[in-house]
Amino acid sequence: MRTVIQGGTIVNEGKTFDGTIVIEDGKILSIVGDYKSPTTFDEVIDASGCFVLPGIIDDHVHFREPGLTEKADIDTESRAAAAGGVTTYFDMPNTVPQTTTLEALEEKFALAAQKSHVNYSFFFGATNDNISLFPQLDPHRIPGIKLFMGSSTGNMLVDRRESLEQLFSSTKLPVMAHCEDTAIINRNMAEAKEKYGGEPKVIHHPEIRSEEACYESTRLAIELAKKYDARLHVAHLSTAKELDLIPISHFSHLSNITAEATVSHLYFCNRDYASLGTRIKCNPAIKTEHDREALQRALTDGRITVIGTDHAPHLLSQKEGGCAKAVSGMPMIQFSLVTMLELVDNGILSLERLVELMCHNPARLFEVRHRGFIREGYQADLVLVRPNTAWVCTKNLIESKCGWSPMEGHMFLWRVERTLCNGHTVYADGKVDASYIGQPVTFR
Ligand SMILES: [Zn+2]
Repeated sequence: MRTVIQGGTIVNEGKTFDGTIVIEDGKILSIVGDYKSPTTFDEVIDASGCFVLPGIIDDHVHFREPGLTEKADIDTESRAAAAGGVTTYFDMPNTVPQTTTLEALEEKFALAAQKSHVNYSFFFGATNDNISLFPQLDPHRIPGIKLFMGSSTGNMLVDRRESLEQLFSSTKLPVMAHCEDTAIINRNMAEAKEKYGGEPKVIHHPEIRSEEACYESTRLAIELAKKYDARLHVAHLSTAKELDLIPISHFSHLSNITAEATVSHLYFCNRDYASLGTRIKCNPAIKTEHDREALQRALTDGRITVIGTDHAPHLLSQKEGGCAKAVSGMPMIQFSLVTMLELVDNGILSLERLVELMCHNPARLFEVRHRGFIREGYQADLVLVRPNTAWVCTKNLIESKCGWSPMEGHMFLWRVERTLCNGHTVYADGKVDASYIGQPVTFR
């Protein structure tokens, strides 16, 4: 099977050029500037007017399966991924059962092999008691360990100092950490309830899940990672203050300590609570305009290494209430690329840098094999995006099971035209090919 993508503008490894990509049996066979070949192809894709990027690698999603499938499942959310130009995702362990045993991890791989329409892998969740399992984890199959440092996600919270010390000293895998200090959050919540009543309005969410709660936890994680020379990837930075703790990663030489920013924290700020309410309630909280601008600046100065989504769907009915009752998290994977392209239009970052942060760097950081770059011999994970094509995000376009998006009603100027996963068109003309099943990602 030979496919050719011609007429498009390729964006890869800091360069933007008109070129042709030839795909054979799911892999990139050649990339050429000026291609004139008499060879016949099984499939010719006309990319005229489009930019051709490596498929997005989203290092942070919650697809809710198994156990929470009223909110989302691997089938529906991987459709949303395909429609959004995301060809690979790493799912988080706070499902039911939690992915904190080898059996639970195998169950997820088995489910994805049945129903994931793009490529997949799964983080293993750390608890206070399962660090002894780490040596049995296959470093070629998983991106790393997910650590909830004093966050409120089920009982996966690792809060004992000796467990944290043991964890950072026992693995060379990347440790991706959710950093928020529970003691500070609980204190803030008690104060807020006293001040505002039992159900504080969502506008107070960033006072409860405060800058201080984030900073103290991130500071501790970095201190421990440095002490044991561990690899730490701080998930979803949300404050300007935490950025001071993050070392600068120069181009492809990533520091041992890196940070992720999410599309939500880069796009929204506390002013948006007025119009979007609990739809944009997430943990850590979306904070001030000042914080958002600092995060946006950090996209280009080497302190933010990866853009993920923390795609975390819930039913709208579960979003009712305020700070105490409404659940935290929002769906974003289907519109992450087009939202970030809007930031490109706004001059926040270049298209080449976007590709660095959403494709190349996740591949480098987690040592993904043969994906994340447009290179000969690599898997043909590609996305075609078209600029200057206005469309409005409406309910009927949403693939996620929850059926809503914080981007509803928004007019986008970029459109995902086509997504190829391992050389197969998994999304085009507004339709997902749900007969296609992606591959497990390999690492290292
Ligand atoms: Zn998350």
